[in-house]
Amino acid sequence: MKAFEATRLFFNQAADQLDISEELREALLMPDREVQVQVTIRLDNGKLANFVGFRVQHDHSRGPMKGGLRYHTEVDLDETRALASLMTWKTAVVNLPYGGAKGGIGVDPNDLSRSEIERLTRAFVDQIHDIVGPDTDIPAPDMGTDHQVMSWFRNQWEKYHGFHPAVITGKPVEEYGAKGREEATGRGVGTLTNKLIRRLGMASEKTRVAIQGFGNVGSHAAKFLHEAQFPIVAVSDVTGTYYHQDGLNIPELLRHKIAHPKGLLEGFEHAEHLPLEALLKLDKLDVLIPAALGGVITTENAGSISAKVIIEAANGPVHPGADEMLHQKGVTILPDILANAGGVTVSYFEWVQNRQHYRWSLDRVRQELDHTMNQAFEDVWQMASQHNVSLRTAAYMIGIARVKRATELAGLA
Ligand code: NAD
Repeated sequence: MKAFEATRLFFNQAADQLDISEELREALLMPDREVQVQVTIRLDNGKLANFVGFRVQHDHSRGPMKGGLRYHTEVDLDETRALASLMTWKTAVVNLPYGGAKGGIGVDPNDLSRSEIERLTRAFVDQIHDIVGPDTDIPAPDMGTDHQVMSWFRNQWEKYHGFHPAVITGKPVEEYGAKGREEATGRGVGTLTNKLIRRLGMASEKTRVAIQGFGNVGSHAAKFLHEAQFPIVAVSDVTGTYYHQDGLNIPELLRHKIAHPKGLLEGFEHAEHLPLEALLKLDKLDVLIPAALGGVITTENAGSISAKVIIEAANGPVHPGADEMLHQKGVTILPDILANAGGVTVSYFEWVQNRQHYRWSLDRVRQELDHTMNQAFEDVWQMASQHNVSLRTAAYMIGIARVKRATELAGLA
């Protein structure tokens, strides 16, 4: 099943509960605008290379659209469309004054040098600069992009439109970025994991965690959960799974990642090195945190998952069929549109600071992030209890109802 079809299924499960008409469903679900562009650069070896870039603007009824930029080989129009719609529901669940968008380029950034990635980013901005802006559509980092890419993006965009740091978030702190943005998604994942575990009557010291992906989100979630006394028995990245039955030494893993030229775990010696796919099959897990790609938990592998709780740090990691199987097995899933909303929340704080030319302290960012995440969790928990639905359906119900209301107030429905 394609990514957008999966999103449509989750959307419809919630729309059934809200009793939304077919025509309004279609209006809410279909993107406002989809742009596909060719991005051509000269490589370091003098040859020309062509890539395809996308920006999908899903819905702007609650405010300017917001969503990350992904550099990955699997980026295509369908995936970008699905991720853009997730951003619409996500910003609504945490009640930010935004709509949803997403973009990216089909490329493996590991195949390019830093200067090639810079040229690629600038060429992409040349193609889409007139459809993004601080009041229309504000990109941010996602898989394969980082604060340096955001800085190049901003610099290129400002060549056309003048000084407006709020055109993009996730910038370096010394260049109008927000303190705490880099850790924000992982911190939000950690905060809500802790909260959900306690709500389910489990104790952090006895809760065995595995995290798939050790990039921005996975590594910060690991750090936060390690500090909260959770034993993290396994983590993985593209180089494989790293396992220790008594819990990994997370500070040592983080040091290893920082020292590795490509930020990988390759060569880490103080753990058992298992194949990539082993992580999802580990037994005696309590919490599984997919924090890499979408679509990794399917009907084929859902049966072998031992965890009682899945925290969707990645976007769209669980296929609808697997979602149903896991639900039947009694697994609690904290959905992506709530679990990983910490990143867009602090992106919002960055945008607010840029517009006010004012800087918040790290303490203030963390305090406001924790408040926003906790509030959204309580809203979703209450909706799930009231309607006897899963946390995913409850989160979608809140998101969809808020977008529907904004659409109605605008006079469109
Ligand atoms: P990233 O590029 O920083 O890290 C991705 C990690 O996943 C890397 O460690 C990579 O080695 C690993 N990985 C890739 N394929 C893998 C595989 N098959 N098995 C195991 N590991 C694999 O990306 P990120 O920013 O951490 O994003 C991760 C996920 O979180 C994505 O789904 C993204 O959409 C979502 N997300 C990110 C943010 C954010 O603020 N960065 C916000 C919300 C959601």
